[in-house]
Amino acid sequence: MLNIVLFGPPGAGKGTQSEKLISQYNLVHLATGDIFRYNIKNGTDLGNLAKGYMDKGQLVPDEVTIKMLNAEVEKHPESNGFIFDGFPRTTPQAEALDTLLASKNTAISCMLALEVPEEELKQRLLKRAEVSGRPDDANIEVIENRIAVYNKETAPVKSYFENQNKLSLIDGTGSIESITERLFKAIDSLS
Ligand code: AMP
Repeated sequence: MLNIVLFGPPGAGKGTQSEKLISQYNLVHLATGDIFRYNIKNGTDLGNLAKGYMDKGQLVPDEVTIKMLNAEVEKHPESNGFIFDGFPRTTPQAEALDTLLASKNTAISCMLALEVPEEELKQRLLKRAEVSGRPDDANIEVIENRIAVYNKETAPVKSYFENQNKLSLIDGTGSIESITERLFKAIDSLS
């Protein structure tokens, strides 16, 4: 199996690049933010709980997020592999992911971490707000909080995978195509 963590701050291009990777490598895309938004749209208990955190740019609690992610992985027993997009965002989430995959006799193949300067992230998110309809993209204070939460709680997850020799840093600036090329190259160098 090929199991990739596509990592990076909000606005780094994880969603856009995931689309390219799933078609190239025939993987299942699991984006925790998308799953939460789907639940909000459908008015589920999970959606109602997540919304309060998301609107403020805070993380949904680990217990809830890990349970949801486990259930999503279970839905795809025949998968060739997964792209985890927006997960793990904390060290306990990374540990839970390792445990889950180990129980299926597989593991994370690599973490690809997109790197983009903070000012560019803010500009990208404000621009995305014009089309995404996402409340958390439309407000600069929420954007800044999401970036601060990333720096404090999520960025340390890079060290977790670096300690396993699985971290590749990828320049996330330039054209969409050039970033995709860098990601393909990093994945192809694994085999
Ligand atoms: P995203 O679509 O990845 O930008 O995520 C949007 C929001 O969903 C985040 O700001 C969090 O509130 C929540 N979220 C998504 N993934 C996670 C996660 N792995 N852990 C906790 N909260 C998450």
